[in-house]
Amino acid sequence: MRKQIAAANWKMNLTLQQANELLDEITNKNISLSPDQQVVFGVPFPYLLLASEKVKSNAGYFIAAQNCYNQASGAYTGEVSAVMLSSCEIGFVIIGHSERREYFWEDNEMLAQKVDICLSNGLKPIFCCGEPLEIREAETQNAYVETQIKESLFHLESSALHNFVVAYEPIWAIGTGKTASAEQAQEMHAHIRSVFAQKYGNDIAESISILYGGSVKANNANEIFGKKDVDGGLVGGASLKADEFAEIIKGLK
Ligand code: PEP
Repeated sequence: MRKQIAAANWKMNLTLQQANELLDEITNKNISLSPDQQVVFGVPFPYLLLASEKVKSNAGYFIAAQNCYNQASGAYTGEVSAVMLSSCEIGFVIIGHSERREYFWEDNEMLAQKVDICLSNGLKPIFCCGEPLEIREAETQNAYVETQIKESLFHLESSALHNFVVAYEPIWAIGTGKTASAEQAQEMHAHIRSVFAQKYGNDIAESISILYGGSVKANNANEIFGKKDVDGGLVGGASLKADEFAEIIKGLK
């Protein structure tokens, strides 16, 4: 069975002390995970090492960076490379979050480079895709998301996509309190899986964990994660509260 994943995206929130407390609160709950379940904390760069240290004794718990640069090293003041993250033994990197696409002009081509550099450094990308409201209203979301995937991922060998992680995050549902219905999520996840199946075959497509992101909360996680092609969630706001995120973890299949 492909991995079922509850991934937290803390974004640019929390002080060091608050981060410490939140990780302690969640890990102290000792939520037991099946071998097919994983919990990933996407924390700000300064907290990566601390967070890794905190979760290392919890099986199935991992740390993600929220971004990395598309070059290996050099004169790029302020950027963080995949090589650096790999040397810190970070497992995952969130790539192409809609906030990065919107505020930092990351396009599909740049994201393809970021995916490549993560994979070549042993980091697992959590590749985000998803449509803005006007595309959903025009009912062209399938083609829109398909283009994001094709332009950033279809240059990859099939072996690179085995056990890959994609997060479908409709932009109109991020941080808005407006969640896609479980049916809307399932419909898009099935479409995404079929896009991979057409290019790489069923085995690869079935191995990819496709997370849903967009106002996932304790009270809707179970229903959304219960859908056949939804393999957990990428969670922003609700991942900042220990009790809420713990319930979301418990909602995994
Ligand atoms: C996100 O930032 O990836 C996200 C889904 O945020 P929220 O859960 O707050 O909508």
